[in-house]
Amino acid sequence: MNKPMIYLDNSATTPLSAAAREAMLCAMETFGNPSSLHPAGQAAQKLTDTAREQVLSGLGLRPRQKSGTLVFTSCGTEASSLALLGSVYAKERRVANRILTTDSEHPSVSRVMDRLAQSGFEVIRLSTRGGVLSADELEAALDRPILLASFMLVNNETGAVYDVGRHFRRIKAVWPDAVTHCDAVQGFLKVPFTPASLCADLISLSGHKLHAPKGVGALYIAEPIRTAKKLLPLLLGGGQEGGMRSGTENVCGIAAFGAAVADACKQGDALRQKLCDLRSYAEERLSPLELRINRPQGERAPHILNITLPSIRSETMLHALSADGICVSAGSACSSHAKTHSESLLAFGLTPSEADCSLRISFSEQNTRADIDALADSLQKNLARLVRVR
Ligand code: PLP
Repeated sequence: MNKPMIYLDNSATTPLSAAAREAMLCAMETFGNPSSLHPAGQAAQKLTDTAREQVLSGLGLRPRQKSGTLVFTSCGTEASSLALLGSVYAKERRVANRILTTDSEHPSVSRVMDRLAQSGFEVIRLSTRGGVLSADELEAALDRPILLASFMLVNNETGAVYDVGRHFRRIKAVWPDAVTHCDAVQGFLKVPFTPASLCADLISLSGHKLHAPKGVGALYIAEPIRTAKKLLPLLLGGGQEGGMRSGTENVCGIAAFGAAVADACKQGDALRQKLCDLRSYAEERLSPLELRINRPQGERAPHILNITLPSIRSETMLHALSADGICVSAGSACSSHAKTHSESLLAFGLTPSEADCSLRISFSEQNTRADIDALADSLQKNLARLVRVR
């Protein structure tokens, strides 16, 4: 008989929630194109309008509050490409050439930064050693005008929460024209924030990290950025999404994204508390084992725990855990395709060989203490076996 699956890789993706599934099934019956003016189109438009309000309200914004808009995209990666390339292309004159980011961004930001650096922009990657964004390096980088700053809110591998609001406020105080972008894909509804608290002009979100299906994300755009045309669309065509992202909308995905956000908002602090309790329990169960918990020095997201094993490659342990039906991640899901060391873990301060021996465990509110007991038991059994044969 197959073992039941214990899923502890919720930073890679999450199972669909009942609320998201229901919204999706309902949207499948609403087949109209939101751009059509007839009743079938209007019904589809109503679904996307509702979802937009639901996601905006997850960002702490009231419906029709005109501080910003939301553009639905295909994923968090697309949202960040739109934010970064769109804001750089929007600058007609290169009054500023300097771009600030961190050394531990998700590839959806760091690969775009590579491209911008190759195109002649000066890209400065600030240190996040120990899980803390360096205020000293930021201060030193403010001696010349800043075009764009992009800092993630929660690191997807270590769970470190960077003090984005404080740093963006400092940048705007010195260079008010700088555009600020935050990749909040891992932080949305796990760490409380609003666009104002982050001082962010642009915020990337993704549906499948919070129990919506894959294939839907969003970019929040602050009103002054939209009205001053400080962002150019990347996809051109029919002018959907207020002209910022042409292409017929993924109505089913969008409706499910809205429903998943509304569901998480309903749970509010109880959801975050449940995740915190699960992480504390996991630390309690894993601490006695022969492994190291990589705790960020500053604030931590409640759903991510990173560990380093004693000279056992993460892939070896991942396969051993999988044989017991337990799913965790060796580095981020994306970097598991790339055969290089995790940039985030090296930036955190791990050596390349420690990074090779690290696993990420990530929770959702659907997990239980019994899942963590099973993980701890399997880790203990496999550590004893693998340490002997290494
Ligand atoms: N940003 C962070 C921090 C992530 O963890 C991820 C996905 O793991 C992304 C962006 C990309 O999101 P998506 O998979 O929706 O493209």
